[in-house]
Amino acid sequence: MTPAKVWLVGAGPGDPELLTLKAVRALGEADVVLVDALVHPEVLAHLRHGARVVDVGKRGGCRSTPQAFIERLMVRLAKRGQTVVRLKGGDPCVFGRGGEEMLALATAGVPCEVVSGVTAGVAAPASAGIPVTHRGLARGAILVTGHTADDADAPDWAALARTGLTLVVYMGLGRVEEITAALVAGGLDAETPAAAVQDGTGEHQRTVVATVGTLAATVRAHDLRSPAILVIGAVAALAHVDARHRDAIAPASWANVLAAAA
Ligand code: SAH
Repeated sequence: MTPAKVWLVGAGPGDPELLTLKAVRALGEADVVLVDALVHPEVLAHLRHGARVVDVGKRGGCRSTPQAFIERLMVRLAKRGQTVVRLKGGDPCVFGRGGEEMLALATAGVPCEVVSGVTAGVAAPASAGIPVTHRGLARGAILVTGHTADDADAPDWAALARTGLTLVVYMGLGRVEEITAALVAGGLDAETPAAAVQDGTGEHQRTVVATVGTLAATVRAHDLRSPAILVIGAVAALAHVDARHRDAIAPASWANVLAAAA
């Protein structure tokens, strides 16, 4: 039997309307859907009647399904002729292990198609008023993980500090103290604007704006929760937050940034 297809589909961030038309079509064709934790439950409304849903995500510190098991399951189902959708939050290839799954499927001879999704690192800041590459403020943006298996594997924060580009940090909330300290130790001005966006585009969206020097204390004081994106760089000063809050924290060094946005 020729294997059926596996779709690697991005569900976008919090807002279920950010699904692409192609994602909706793939969901409508699926026999089985393997779903990650950060996918909004309303997205599953696009499944056809009788499609099977397998929850392989983790939440609140519970163990997720091992990656190797998910890959084996996809291969087995497809080889049995079942059309599989592997549904992930955001974009499947941005910190979503889409690459590993594509390789595993290719190795097993299973056809696979990627359906890109709206990634949280762009959409969460944008929905909070932060364009990550705002002209005149940032010539680019770097997508980086704040969560690495060990310190030897950690990003070179000092090198990133020198780029002058917007830093978009995924999975950074838990280590915001270490990340911001490493950036300042690496030469980044402690007054550089910095923001954190919780549940971007979702029902529980909250944004805080601070400086690199004060971001960690600010997210803790406001009890920001995961999922959250950290944005570090001048563009963070453009966030739509209560003006009083921003006036209270904006150092004089932000004047030109705020003037650019006015
Ligand atoms: N593939 C996903 C990222 C998965 S890694 C994507 O492209 O968006 C998980 C991390 O993504 C979270 O720790 C958080 O940093 C970020 N994230 C996912 N959804 C988010 C949301 N709605 N708001 C803010 N951050 C989000």
